[in-house]
Amino acid sequence: MLWSGWGDPAKARELPPQIRELLHDLLGVREPAAPAASFASVRLAPVALSPARLAALAEVVGHEHVLTSRAARIGHTRGKSTPDLLRMRAGDGSDAPDAVVLPGSHDEVAALLRLCVAERIAVVPFGGGTSVVGGLAASRSGFAGVVALDLARLDRLVSVDAESMVVTVEPGLRAPEAERLLGRHGLTLGHFPQSFEYATLGGFAAARSSGQASAGYGRFDDMVVGLTVATPSGDLSLGRAPKSAAGPDLRQLLLGSEGAFGVITALRLRVRRVPERRVYEGWRFGSFREGTAALRVLAQEGPLPTVLRLSDETETMIGLARPDAIGGGDSGCLVIAGYEGPAAEGSPASSATSVEGRGAGAGAVLARMGGVPLGIEPGQAWEHGRFAAPYLRDSLLAVGATVETVETAGFWSALPRLYDAVRLALLGALESPLVMCHISHVYETGASLYFTVVTAQKGDPVEQWERAKEAVSAAIVAADGTISHHHGVGRDHREAYAAELGPVGVDILRAVKSRLDPAGILNPGILIP
Ligand SMILES: Cc1cc2nc3c(=O)[nH]c(=O)nc-3n(C[C@H](O)[C@H](O)[C@H](O)COP(=O)(O)OP(=O)(O)OC[C@H]3O[C@@H](n4cnc5c(N)ncnc54)[C@H](O)[C@@H]3O)c2cc1C
Repeated sequence: MLWSGWGDPAKARELPPQIRELLHDLLGVREPAAPAASFASVRLAPVALSPARLAALAEVVGHEHVLTSRAARIGHTRGKSTPDLLRMRAGDGSDAPDAVVLPGSHDEVAALLRLCVAERIAVVPFGGGTSVVGGLAASRSGFAGVVALDLARLDRLVSVDAESMVVTVEPGLRAPEAERLLGRHGLTLGHFPQSFEYATLGGFAAARSSGQASAGYGRFDDMVVGLTVATPSGDLSLGRAPKSAAGPDLRQLLLGSEGAFGVITALRLRVRRVPERRVYEGWRFGSFREGTAALRVLAQEGPLPTVLRLSDETETMIGLARPDAIGGGDSGCLVIAGYEGPAAEGSPASSATSVEGRGAGAGAVLARMGGVPLGIEPGQAWEHGRFAAPYLRDSLLAVGATVETVETAGFWSALPRLYDAVRLALLGALESPLVMCHISHVYETGASLYFTVVTAQKGDPVEQWERAKEAVSAAIVAADGTISHHHGVGRDHREAYAAELGPVGVDILRAVKSRLDPAGILNPGILIP
């Protein structure tokens, strides 16, 4: 992973000259005054942990698994939001941990937590490091030091229960490797967020992630049937049946807990069979309003595609659903509808659950609601570029444009107001930004809205974005949206999360935190308002 950007540096992309011209003429983007900092010039504080404390950590996990090199510390600094990248590009390594510790088992995690309580060391559980909400930038105030507890060595597929369609995995397993291991058994999670290449299964659970195929496979928290968690107060093992009426479901308390309550050391996950067939196709609607109505009918009446995504007019025009052909967009609003599952035997409509049968059924609904079929070409283009957009962000930052995303969700009846509120807040807080939006996660009762904003960098780009973020967060709360549909809370959304929960809700969270982590060593400053 590139320390100051996204992903594999070999996949970095130059912006085509016509896009640079567009940014210059339309948004007033100008080259940044200073080039990005080199790796050697990143400013790091000296390691705050004493040799005795480092030796004590090494006693638990072995010397080779306690890293204090520049590369290790910089590579575990913050996450991958745009402000995170801007800070790294400015050479600011001030949130770097003092050491990176790599436990090899649940017992080592538990022992590390005991040691860190005794030595007042803050612990940041670290999966793939792709948080976009400041979930890895813990506060060091009052602590002897900070360690990143990297779960990379806990990366096994532990067991497969093919009868129940449940697997047990370790949290540090990255998504592509998980799919590879499950694929050997003919199984898949079907969880493909845009951060798929780097994020881990533990991170998905800890941040309640949602993937591009959520309509078909569900959110990640829907997939979790059990988890094992090491906390400073002891272990928790949750989930002995798919559903239970034995009181409140504590699994839900740990999902989304972002490392503030404990470290997830194992997950039991529902899996599906690898689909025989995948077909993605495009549809055009005249407006975002019409397209939204069609998605609602599909979500409420079915048949629901596996992937269902609607871009608004601006996103369609820019062509963001096809990052490989950016700038070559179309008019109206593009829908991508994808179907994964068994192939039909005999005639296309022979099985209602087959890819062909569901495609025909959903196609009839989309056509009835005013959609025009565009065939499989837009679907194939989307599939081809589905993990490419984050690479584009690095190229935009390099030429002086800030690009960042904002996501929320609401009930269908509240969605138009929420859409307007977020757009207006962004347009008001930034100078002539480009604001694009899509819906990519639908439910019977509502949907998510995912905005992408591009603006010319002015002054300090981090402060510029933070002002906009404050305005947009307030607008989301006021318009009855949730502060996050799938990115989580981290440090950035704590205040808005508190507004959503209300004072009693906040007290409950604090009570749980003080019971499980009385010394407050776990991810201080994250999640808990
Ligand atoms: C370019 C890009 C695209 C993205 N696209 C999506 C998307 O489509 N859908 C989506 O849902 N999210 C997306 N994200 C956000 C991010 O990938 C998710 O939040 C993901 O779940 C984080 O996983 P991770 O392994 O990287 O976790 P990290 O970033 O390492 O950690 C996330 C949080 O969970 C905690 N944590 C991690 N592992 C554990 C553990 N084992 N036990 C306890 N706490 C733990 C961390 O302390 C942190 O607070 C995107 C991010 C980027 C940068």
